[in-house]
Amino acid sequence: MAEFQCYACNTKVKTGEKFTFTKKGSVHFDCFISQRRKEVIPEKQEMLRTYSILLDSELQHLISILSIQAVPDDAKETVRVKYKDVEKACGETTRLISEL
Ligand SMILES: [Zn+2]
Repeated sequence: MAEFQCYACNTKVKTGEKFTFTKKGSVHFDCFISQRRKEVIPEKQEMLRTYSILLDSELQHLISILSIQAVPDDAKETVRVKYKDVEKACGETTRLISEL
């Protein structure tokens, strides 16, 4: 995995850690959510909580796909497509959270 730096806590993102990409760059899931919690208006905190659960599970899904060992050649394309689908979902949820 390429190395990324979290813009919120300025540490490197380690393999297996949940992180996402925003307009500002790469950020840990936990750093992103705690930052948004401070910025989002009280009326939208419940939406933030809901979206953060969605993003958490989508990122966990990505990590699970990445951790599949010894994928047979015949299954590689399927894994790649599934990974792309979940990655897209993560991007959409991240955008929703950014726009709250
Ligand atoms: Zn961080």
